[in-house]
Amino acid sequence: FTSALYSWLFIVPVLSYLLLGTKLGTIYSVIYVLSGCAILTYRHIVQNPGTPVIAIVNIALTLTAIWALSYTYEQKRAQTVKRLQEMASLDPLTGLNNRLLLSSIFDMLCETLPEQQKSVSMVLVDLDHFKKVNDKYGHGVGDAVLVDVSRIINSMRRRNDWAFRFGGEEFCLLIPDVTPHQAHSIAERLRHSVEHTLSAEGFDATITVSIGVAHWPENGDALSQIYKVADERLYKAKEQGRNQIVSE
Ligand code: GH3
Ligand code: MG
Ligand code: MG
Repeated sequence: FTSALYSWLFIVPVLSYLLLGTKLGTIYSVIYVLSGCAILTYRHIVQNPGTPVIAIVNIALTLTAIWALSYTYEQKRAQTVKRLQEMASLDPLTGLNNRLLLSSIFDMLCETLPEQQKSVSMVLVDLDHFKKVNDKYGHGVGDAVLVDVSRIINSMRRRNDWAFRFGGEEFCLLIPDVTPHQAHSIAERLRHSVEHTLSAEGFDATITVSIGVAHWPENGDALSQIYKVADERLYKAKEQGRNQIVSE
């Protein structure tokens, strides 16, 4: 135990927080610093009672300052990363997830579902003639309608369902562990709710949605295949007159 040991007392908290994050960094720092302080106390207070108090106080203060700085820096860094991740993955208008998260959430659902529940339905929703709403009532009312649709989608969603806004006036739901028939019923409830409950200030037209539904694994293995099928079905719903669901 040379006095060079003490330099590690200052370095370990910095390295622990930078490399291991707040939780593990604190655990490693506490273990190392408490051990170091015990040795310091033993050598300079018990073995050599003549050590100047100012030297001990100096080490303790420097250590506290470096520890506090490392902890605060790591906590702020983690908070900032979390905030940036949220900003990058949430749609600012509706608060729903944006398209960025779609593939990771789809993979997560496919990988983590138990064998007997392995199914994911994609419900792709597009507002009908939404351009006319903007043209007639203005973008403010158009935005309010989009927020209302997202509220309806959110209120219908079960705990394990995921809702997205794909930019524009297109929304998507990923629904795990349902049969194609159940997915169709959920889509029908959504279509009905939008048609019958949606109203915005200064707005007296009926809003309707067209919906395409596709299923994993029946319609393909990859997300791109499921999305393509759902999109084709959505297009078919538009062609057949809108305000309807195509799910097979
Ligand atoms: P269709 O029934 O064929 O889907 O017709 P549509 O008018 O809904 O489709 P189209 O793709 O022609 O127009 C989509 C419109 O959505 C264009 C744009 O004015 C509007 N839009 C897209 N994003 C936003 C938004 O963030 N806010 C508002 N207010 N309008 C938006
Ligand atoms: Mg549309
Ligand atoms: Mg569209």
